[in-house]
Amino acid sequence: MKLLEHEAKQLFAQEGIRVPNGILVGKHEEILLHMDAIADNVVVKAQVDVGGRGKAGGVLMATRDTVIETARQLFNTKIKGIEVQRILIEERLAIQHEYFVSITIDRIKKQPVILFAETGGVDIEETAHTKKDAVRSVSFCPLLSDVPGFLLRELCGDAPADIQKTVNRLYHVFCHKDALLAEINPLVTTPNGVYAADAKLIVDDNSLARQGIAVNRDLTEREREAEKHGFSFVELDGTIGVIGNGAGLTMSTLDLIEYYGGKAADFLDVGGGADSERVMHAVRLVAGVPTLRVIVVNLLGGITRCDEVAKGIIASGVPVPVIVRIAGTNAEEGQRLLAEKGYEMLDTMDHVVKKAVEVAG
Ligand code: GDP
Ligand code: MN
Repeated sequence: MKLLEHEAKQLFAQEGIRVPNGILVGKHEEILLHMDAIADNVVVKAQVDVGGRGKAGGVLMATRDTVIETARQLFNTKIKGIEVQRILIEERLAIQHEYFVSITIDRIKKQPVILFAETGGVDIEETAHTKKDAVRSVSFCPLLSDVPGFLLRELCGDAPADIQKTVNRLYHVFCHKDALLAEINPLVTTPNGVYAADAKLIVDDNSLARQGIAVNRDLTEREREAEKHGFSFVELDGTIGVIGNGAGLTMSTLDLIEYYGGKAADFLDVGGGADSERVMHAVRLVAGVPTLRVIVVNLLGGITRCDEVAKGIIASGVPVPVIVRIAGTNAEEGQRLLAEKGYEMLDTMDHVVKKAVEVAG
């Protein structure tokens, strides 16, 4: 789950990384209550989880006199289509230099990898593309609790020693918070020392409970509902709903939809041995995806019984067309039940997907 800047900064500060003093508000009027904490020069920052926020107008400079009006305007602006619900108002740092540091996992090496650039800031992506050696990287054994000194020196080059210390502290955040990504861009030097001017932290979804995060905000409401039923479910924005059993069969159904020029509305794997009630919940859940026009059910009966599947589909009573391919255990009985109710059934996955693409238009 992605944390917002102010949340990430709080966690960074706990590991000894310096962050600017700031206040968080949900309305511009609230700033009045905090005027004694507001510096003469401030940065007004929309707490929205989008890349390129600054360039999209989500980071504004203001003074003590203009901060309320600036925040009011920012609350009324959408940043890349996202409404601004919280604003962080921070003392403005006297930035001398902007660095970039990002820690993630190298999945091939199965090790943490730290990226570092001496020219950080909002143009880092472009810098990385145009200047071949602009971003350095090191990876090392995940059992180490600190980044080895020689690697820090290699990584940070001529940057001040405090930058190296901050990189190591960011690595502590990365480990202690079960992060998939911990990033500071820009990491800045100022006359008062090194600061994290921005902060990004993505916590591994599998660690949310351990990290005391009760609700995964990155999931849609439907995805949360699916979690309760134990479905593997991802909501997409196409028109063809997909219900399968087994990740492989379900994924290949999605692939085939793409192949025939359709667009999937979801990925839903009901898992093995689904009974009629489970199937009913699955169909209802998928039917709720707003862009949906048709549902493909592609199930292979092994421990799953096709008659149970059929009963579940019938019980769901959803208004959208459901096109079914069931094969395996009790398939004939399942097909008989569905035929009685007038459901469209086809023999192969290929046919069922082709048909669905046709129906979806
Ligand atoms: P992002 O666009 O979401 O990455 O937003 P950032 O928080 O990184 O801010 C974008 C840019 O605004 C930074 O790269 C800085 O150049 C500038 N900026 C942010 N905070 C400060 C600050 O305290 N002082 C100054 N002078 N510039 C800042
Ligand atoms: Mn940034």
